[in-house]
Amino acid sequence: MRILVTGGAGFLGSHLCERLVHDGHEVVCLDNLFTGRKANLAPLLQHPRFEFVRHDVVDPFKFEVDQIYNLACPASPPHYQYNPIKTTKTSVMGAINCLGLAKRVKARVFQASTSEVYGDPEMHPQREEYWGHVNPIGRRSCYDEGKRCAETLFFDYHRENKVDIRVIRIFNTYGPRMLANDGRVVSNFIVQALKGEDITIYGDGTQTRSFCYVDDLIEGFVRFMNQTEIVGPMNCGNPGEFTMLQLAELTLKLVGGKSKLVFKPLPSDDPRQRQPDISLARRVIKWEPQVRLEDGLARTIAYFRTQVG
Ligand code: NAD
Ligand code: UDP
Repeated sequence: MRILVTGGAGFLGSHLCERLVHDGHEVVCLDNLFTGRKANLAPLLQHPRFEFVRHDVVDPFKFEVDQIYNLACPASPPHYQYNPIKTTKTSVMGAINCLGLAKRVKARVFQASTSEVYGDPEMHPQREEYWGHVNPIGRRSCYDEGKRCAETLFFDYHRENKVDIRVIRIFNTYGPRMLANDGRVVSNFIVQALKGEDITIYGDGTQTRSFCYVDDLIEGFVRFMNQTEIVGPMNCGNPGEFTMLQLAELTLKLVGGKSKLVFKPLPSDDPRQRQPDISLARRVIKWEPQVRLEDGLARTIAYFRTQVG
């Protein structure tokens, strides 16, 4: 197949492009390089079935493709809050442009949605039926509401125009090629530990997240995209739930060194807890994460050792 991946130069996108080329497909990667890097695509740039196009998803684009994966959007709070209006535009206009293209060329189109659509959840663990608890006017809203609106657009194009959609809700994912200055917790803790700097815990560190290793997630993407039983939304993530204190201690144990834990103010609207209910993914795509946090962290630390001087 010929497959378009928007946001393909980013953390998840570059792993997806690699997987798709490896599976024998032709891949067009579209990215404006806001948080993505050509270096992430180094293994692919010379490949005959791979093409990189520098373009912004806010502006329309045309490609003859069979499938579209829409991943373009900054994902870490510091990056998506840098220009919040642009973040909402990217989610909303990017979705419209992908859906318009999918409609014209009859491609199947996949939306990288997020656990953030559940906001600070009152249901635990989160199931797909839960409508969420999201602040519409806060610092995270540009991302959360942008992604919620994108889901709305996907389902309206599906109902009104019979566009063949797949909507996946991704929970915190980590691994090689996260940006060292990304601001997300896993990369922050690893980089701080490697540099011997203080480990910054926001709040008291008892808030929880569930961390999925990137290879597991990409396997989930491909299985979900290529099944025809459901269009989603479907949760994808690792149900193992950890406090930020546990994550900090595990990171320190694996890296070694002498970093101390320091406590900083909790950002506004920071969700207290998050854990995916993945019964749907287990049933429909027979998917279950395989990589334990300790093993995934070790692989991620090995990557950051090559990045942090
Ligand atoms: P990332 O920031 O590494 O990748 C996003 C990519 O999109 C980058 O390459 C960036 O340059 C590109 N991009 C941003 N705005 C663009 C625009 N206007 N036009 C074209 N390209 C643009 O983040 P990631 O972790 O790889 O996330 C990829 C997708 O998955 C995002 O849509 C994100 O919301 C979603 N997601 C990720 C996680 C996670 O834990 N990693 C969790 C939930 C959802
Ligand atoms: N966090 C932290 N220290 C950091 C970065 C993040 O304690 O240096 C916390 C953050 O407040 C949140 C959790 O770690 O409670 C996960 O943050 P991240 O930005 O990675 O993801 P998200 O909040 O979007 O799930």
